[in-house]
Amino acid sequence: MPVSARRYDEDDVRVRPNRRGSRPRTKERPAHADAVPALVVEVDRGRSTCLAEPGTPAQRTVVAMRARELGRTGVVVGDRVGLVGDVSGRPDTLARIVRIEERRTVLRRTADDTDPVERVVVANADQLVVVTAVADPEPRARMVDRCLVAAYVAGMRPLLCLTKGDLRPAQEVLSTWAPLGLDAVVTSRGPGGELLGLEGVLERLRGRTSVLVGHSGVGKSTLVNALVPDAGRATGHVNAVTGRGRHTSTSMAALQLPGGDGWVVDTPGVRSFGLAHVQPEAVLHAFPDLLPGEEGCPRGCTHDEPDCALDEWAASGRAGTAGPARLASFRRLLAARRGGERDEERPRERDRDHSRDREAPED
Ligand code: ZN
Repeated sequence: MPVSARRYDEDDVRVRPNRRGSRPRTKERPAHADAVPALVVEVDRGRSTCLAEPGTPAQRTVVAMRARELGRTGVVVGDRVGLVGDVSGRPDTLARIVRIEERRTVLRRTADDTDPVERVVVANADQLVVVTAVADPEPRARMVDRCLVAAYVAGMRPLLCLTKGDLRPAQEVLSTWAPLGLDAVVTSRGPGGELLGLEGVLERLRGRTSVLVGHSGVGKSTLVNALVPDAGRATGHVNAVTGRGRHTSTSMAALQLPGGDGWVVDTPGVRSFGLAHVQPEAVLHAFPDLLPGEEGCPRGCTHDEPDCALDEWAASGRAGTAGPARLASFRRLLAARRGGERDEERPRERDRDHSRDREAPED
């Protein structure tokens, strides 16, 4: 959808705030001490589907709009918010989001490598599950690396989930990432076409909020449907809120695992991570064994230049026996951060705009 045709919401048509000093601030912005706590599970063009009082007997689904007083701060899936107004959750009611709690983790991306605008994709997630097939389609190491950078920078635990393990020994693929010491899990198809290895995946999802990323054809939708059988992500349905028919798997949503112990965030709009906002420093912090070696680096070192002290540090053995291999992996991640769209499918324009629509700009 072209930007000009984008649906307007309350942020686009904004009434100028009162002139400074015309009214005391405290009266304009009440504290909303009575706001009801809620978890944002889906955001669709300014309307957020929230789970109010999650985990209590009063848990219910409430649709809400962001209050104007939040300014430009966007609401994203995973946000913990405060709701006021009609918080009953009855059909055709609309509550207001008046507060966004401080985010524990923030998964960000720039829309692409030339766009400096950072967007928050998901808030408060613990784990980034990079779903890739061992074959058909061939794994894209660069795309995996970019996801890993995004996870490290967000402070999220990365998990490699290799699908189609029946087509090729997973170990051949995993060797690429061995120096990183990643946790990995493999699923495959059984003789009757059934999905095997699901228990191993579930084990790693329990008690966590996990974001699943992966490009088309790797079996991510199959995996999500198997993990959350009631979600109906792959089939179209009529949205209960807007009454419009749509294909649910195009929007980002947090899905609760059966039994309630954990959340899975499916990210259909996210095909890759633009990483223009990521500094080498932020990636290095994911390598605590290499980090002390930085002391000898020239000021503003890119850690990818002849004077970089990390080579000497790794060669000295002080980073452990795996040091040199870890340094090579670190540098590969740094390289993947730059201009990484080259060897990836370009998302179609329509999808790009669509995914931008889903993401809130960050202040
Ligand atoms: Zn350096």
